[in-house]
Amino acid sequence: MDTATTQTTTPTQTTSPTTTPAGRSRPLSRIIPATSAIEGGGFEVYRPFPTSALDWLDPFLLLDEMAPNYSEPGRVVGAPAHPHRGFETVTYVIQGEVEHRDSAGNHGVVGSGDVQWMTAGDGIIHSEMPSARLQTEGGVLHGLQLWVNLPAALRRTAPTYQALPSDHLASASGDGWTAEVVAGSMFGVQGPADTHTPIGYALLTIQPGTTLQIPTIDGHTAAVYAFGGVGTVGTEGHTLDTNHLAIFERTAGDIVLGAHADSHIALDCLVLTGEPIDEPIARYGPFVMNTAAEINQAIADFNAGRMGSIPATGTV
Ligand code: MN
Repeated sequence: MDTATTQTTTPTQTTSPTTTPAGRSRPLSRIIPATSAIEGGGFEVYRPFPTSALDWLDPFLLLDEMAPNYSEPGRVVGAPAHPHRGFETVTYVIQGEVEHRDSAGNHGVVGSGDVQWMTAGDGIIHSEMPSARLQTEGGVLHGLQLWVNLPAALRRTAPTYQALPSDHLASASGDGWTAEVVAGSMFGVQGPADTHTPIGYALLTIQPGTTLQIPTIDGHTAAVYAFGGVGTVGTEGHTLDTNHLAIFERTAGDIVLGAHADSHIALDCLVLTGEPIDEPIARYGPFVMNTAAEINQAIADFNAGRMGSIPATGTV
């Protein structure tokens, strides 16, 4: 794509389009295609990491897109009760409804456009299931789940749960783009999520032919995952297809991101930034710690029932 013919705007200065000053843009590091995997009770996810191409992206441990497949009534599957320790799970529902229950007594339905930010910390058992209505009526469940690492000192913090419904997210918009900011200061607004380390998490829609220059914090990880449409990344306008993750170099400067001018639909993407924690990790399934001994302890604690259980819901 020829970016010179495309309007470049700074999201925080949308009334005054600017061009990219030389040296102000981060180089693109790599573009990684998601692989297909089966999770939970048997639903398909598109997973850019962890894969053979990328183990993790400090401070992010995993990114899954729940594939937007239609399921018949009674056939919509989720993730029944399972544990986590040592990190946070962030769930964004694009379409459908996920019903959450956990061993800390939290219960909620995450609907279309809503976010749930769960800190597993010391240990939690939760279920992530299609809502009763979705199970009865059938339909599409489409969403994203991100795992955010915790530093060693906070790995075993008390579990918490932040329900962030769509109308609590911080909205921003400009010529050819809209954003919903969940965490961090992005696009001129502050997201509502409390985070343990500096994280930026925003859902961005860009109209074809529009290119943005997005400020990021020097040295932080910066990446963009496309889940709809076709994007362009970097000053050279590399194509970013759906189900691909673009990773920028950890330098200073802005990231350049646009929607391909030849696409007939908008680009829908997740923009992620985060301060690297820069510690070794040890991981085993739903547990992420710093050492193998800590993983063995997590498995022992789970097997001994020390992560609790989901309260019975009973009948009403
Ligand atoms: Mn889970």
